[in-house]
Amino acid sequence: MSENIQSGTLYLVATPIGNLEDITYRAVKILSSVDLIAAEDTRTTKILLDHYSLHKPMISYFSYNEQTRAPQLIEKLKAGQSIALVSDAGTPGISDPAFHIVQQAIAAGIPIIPIPGPSAFLSALIVSGLPIDRFVFEGFLPLKKGRKTKFESLKSEPRTIVLYESPHRIIRTLEDIQTYLGKRQVVVARELTKKFEEISRGPIESVLSAISGKQPRGEYVVIIEGSFGGTAAFHSE
Ligand code: SAM
Repeated sequence: MSENIQSGTLYLVATPIGNLEDITYRAVKILSSVDLIAAEDTRTTKILLDHYSLHKPMISYFSYNEQTRAPQLIEKLKAGQSIALVSDAGTPGISDPAFHIVQQAIAAGIPIIPIPGPSAFLSALIVSGLPIDRFVFEGFLPLKKGRKTKFESLKSEPRTIVLYESPHRIIRTLEDIQTYLGKRQVVVARELTKKFEEISRGPIESVLSAISGKQPRGEYVVIIEGSFGGTAAFHSE
């Protein structure tokens, strides 16, 4: 494979969601060739770079410094540097910072090249057994303000619904699904690609009672059957 790094170009590089080997040849090549890597957490990205024996200057780019950091990176790009943007896991911009720099790069006429790879929601969807010809990605739901309204609006959503959730809130979110959406098939995908990967499928009440019996740990994707039911390939487990 041959591909020369282009100067003054922003690369959005997808990185693993757990298993360090889930990265494309092209992503490794781009990370080894750019002038600078902008990382959500430089310590997390260093683990990945060390795994592939890559040594590159890094700069932080995370949700709290995004607004000030983006213009600084735009100046570097305008000066001809090539920059790879990575998040802690998965695809930049998917429930992760990237939006500001992408908007500013477009406005400045800077080329942006996607380097595709893992994203937790896609891995979860493909093993869900729920209809995925159409789906809606909601990411993290609002914690307080707007949460009830969001659930009420999802009640009539006919497409399969995908959420991201943390271990601290997974039980509350499953309880809210039961309260606001009623009887649904759900799939909870935990720690995908990692040692304790676990996929739980079934009616909300049984998935909720199975998870409530344990101390929730790790990262979760929750997939909910749409309001039309569809053709789930499972019944209860
Ligand atoms: N950019 C990432 C992506 O492309 O999937 C998402 C980043 S978001 C800040 C982190 C959330 O993604 C976690 O709270 C969890 O909901 C989900 N997630 C990330 N890695 C996961 C994994 N290995 N297994 C299950 N869910 C995961």
